[in-house]
Parts: sequence; structure tokens; C-alpha cells
Amino acid sequence: NSFDESGLRQHLVENVKKSKYLKPTPVQKHAIPIILAGRDLMACAQTGSGKTAAFLLPMIHKILESQEPPVREGNTAMPQVVVVSPTRELAVQIYEQARKFSFNSIVKVAVAYGGTAVHHQRKQMMAGCHILVATPGRLNDFVKHGHVGFSAVQFFVLDEADRMLDMGFLPTIEEMLGHETMKATGERQTLMFSATFPEEIQHLASKFLHNYVFVTV
Ligand code: AMP
Repeated sequence: NSFDESGLRQHLVENVKKSKYLKPTPVQKHAIPIILAGRDLMACAQTGSGKTAAFLLPMIHKILESQEPPVREGNTAMPQVVVVSPTRELAVQIYEQARKFSFNSIVKVAVAYGGTAVHHQRKQMMAGCHILVATPGRLNDFVKHGHVGFSAVQFFVLDEADRMLDMGFLPTIEEMLGHETMKATGERQTLMFSATFPEEIQHLASKFLHNYVFVTV
């Protein structure tokens, strides 16, 4: 019941403490060991539950363990971690948390969202990006233009999945998860977070998650 006993690397625990997080929230307590164990996860958790750190911390831990540099093939960024979020505001919040947790480490983070010029976002990705946080439309555009590829993806996270479905992003999500460069379910780790668990979300989970653990807080 503390970050010290979470199995996360010490540097990461120090960065968490700098964020003034004293102890894990319930979703963090449950999700972190499941993700560290390599399992797929479907978590029902509201905004405010601490779900962002629940997925970011174990993924950053895995990158720190592997010591793998960010991958790039020509002008294509090949993130090891992709986090898809419904809105620009949420994407920026996730990005900022990821930056805090990876402070003073090898881990590089980039953010991409629509409604703004691509130049700066591409430049940031090209400078190295283990973790890409993005909105669905912009991410799919980048994939189509060859700016982003999925062949290095180890973790694919769908945050606020129910909101993304409400916003009509299901076809975009299906297209990306079915992309020819995307690793098969079971070869990548897929994590889904949603405030609610209606039939469409259950369907998405059974289609794109592999033998997943279900957590509700
Ligand atoms: P989230 O549900 O991820 O949007 O997080 C909600 C808020 O709780 C954010 O402002 C986080 O910085 C904060 N938070 C997340 N985990 C913890 C924790 N273990 N202790 C204190 N605050 C936290």
C-alpha cells in the first residue's frame, strides 16, 4: 500500500513523490501489478481516480527496465507506447504527467492532437519518442502519412474509451488496431480505461484485448 512496495523502479518512485502522491489510489493499487505482470487490462475508473498514473507508471517502468532507445525509421516515429485519448485537453494532461514521471530519465514523450499545425508535433516526435499521447484523428492521420508507425508498439492504451465511442471514434480506433504494422493481440499489451462498461465497450474489449483482467473501482 505504498509506492515504495509497488515494484516500480526507485527513480520513478522518487518522481512520483515529487508529485506529492503519498500512496497509490485504489485503481493504481490494482492496475499497476497487473500491467507489470504483462496482462491486458480493462479498467472501469472515473476521471479523478488516478487512472492516468495507473497506466503510465508501469509502462514507464518497463521502458526504464529495457533501456531501449526511442525508435525511428527514416522520418517515421515508432513509439513503444501509444496512448489514445478523446480530447486535446486530456491528451495534454496525460502528456504532462508522463513528462513529470520520466523527469531526468531516458524516457521521451510526445503529444499530438488535431486543430493545430503538424510541424511542431512532428519535430517533437522526430527528436525521439518512446511514448506518444494522441487524439484518434490526428494519430490516424500521422499513420496514414507515414509519420508514425506501430511496429515497435508494446503498449496500446485507450483512455476514456466510452467517451471516444460517444464521439464517433470507433471506426478510427478499429482502423488503427487493425493496421498492418500493429502487433497482434497477445504480442502487444492493450489497456482500456472507461468510466462505464456498456455493450459496445465490452465488445471492443473482447475484440482487441487478450485474456484481459477486469478491474472496477
Ligand atoms: P486522473 O484520474 O488520472 O485524472 O487523476 C486525478 C488527479 O489525481 C490528478 O490531478 C493527479 O495528479 C492526482 N493523483 C493521481 N494519483 C494520485 C495519488 N496517488 N495521490 C495523490 N494524487 C494523485
